[in-house]
Amino acid sequence: MVEKLISSIDSVYIHQQAKDAAVTSRILSLFPSSKIQWVEEDSSLTHHEGSLSAHTYSQSKRKLYITPFKGQFFKRCPGASQRKALTCCNYHVLNLGLQCNMNCSYCYLQSYLKTPVMTIYSNIDDAIKELQDMSLDHGQKNLRVGTGEVIDSLSLDPLTLYSRPLIDFFSRQKHWSLEFKTKSCHVDQFLDCDHRGNVIVSWSINPQEVIEHEEHGTASLEERLNAAEKSVRKGFPIAFHLDPMIYHENWKTNYEKLIQTLSLRFRNANVQGISVGTLRFQPEQRHIMRERFGMQSWVTQAEVFPSESGKLRYDSHLRTTMFKFAIDKFKEHSPWPVSICMETPETWIATYEKYPTQIQELKPLFQPYRL
Ligand code: SF4
Repeated sequence: MVEKLISSIDSVYIHQQAKDAAVTSRILSLFPSSKIQWVEEDSSLTHHEGSLSAHTYSQSKRKLYITPFKGQFFKRCPGASQRKALTCCNYHVLNLGLQCNMNCSYCYLQSYLKTPVMTIYSNIDDAIKELQDMSLDHGQKNLRVGTGEVIDSLSLDPLTLYSRPLIDFFSRQKHWSLEFKTKSCHVDQFLDCDHRGNVIVSWSINPQEVIEHEEHGTASLEERLNAAEKSVRKGFPIAFHLDPMIYHENWKTNYEKLIQTLSLRFRNANVQGISVGTLRFQPEQRHIMRERFGMQSWVTQAEVFPSESGKLRYDSHLRTTMFKFAIDKFKEHSPWPVSICMETPETWIATYEKYPTQIQELKPLFQPYRL
């Protein structure tokens, strides 16, 4: 597993200021010295004039940059800043890096990333200190924190082992929970950690047909499900995000088969939640997606329209049809409540005939509060 990661990375740049970090020692012990370069302040690694070209973007996934982060690690989920356009749950994100070694055709980082490297922040201790300070004032609130916003939570974790100090910190938090959200199958590195049942390991999941077509370099469906079963055996709660659901010719058959599989294999597991979302992306990433994935992709072929939040989405009728289909199939096969992700109040009404705060099982997720 680690070997595969090491061979997928051509160069590792380490900032001098990261020389004493634990992650640096680990990287130096894993990678051959021929791949390592020490750098001082190097603006070409941290900034790029204008948008990245398709080629530079693709290459960024093969260049790892280890550096301290000088900003704030912890913030509200971006959906919360669009509350007028989106109905959003109370979620907070902790960013421990930027860019991903996998390669989904729809990835929103294609319109977001301005650095031609995959960055890991070396100062995890500062991130945990930030959480610690926050817990002094807000430790009694039911806070949900995720690490998978601008980097997959676990795909590089065999290199960083950041899951371990995070699990340790959350084992002392009574009211907070942490979510590792991934499309990888990397869980072995933390399964021996003591935890208090508040670390949720979750998978963004799709039928294998969609994975093969659109989620390049990710773990197969079977690998993700095996990793979920291993996590369950060690007492970790799990969650699944059917997100983004992607329209294709056999979408109903493929999504129903997936929902049946999840329901059968995880019936007795501690499944904390299921969310569903449909394809959405920024208009400005259309060009780079076409260049990188051609017109055979179900994402670049998709008929999408601007929505109030500025993203391109399927029309509201198709979105509601897809949500209703998934929610009905989960109702038919499983006991789990299903929530819809990053959607407008109108879609909630069209799908559920209710706002989330009017749905008993989902209410706790959507009660607003401020930090
Ligand atoms: S796993 Fe997530 S972050 Fe990585 S390429 Fe896919 S969508 Fe982007």
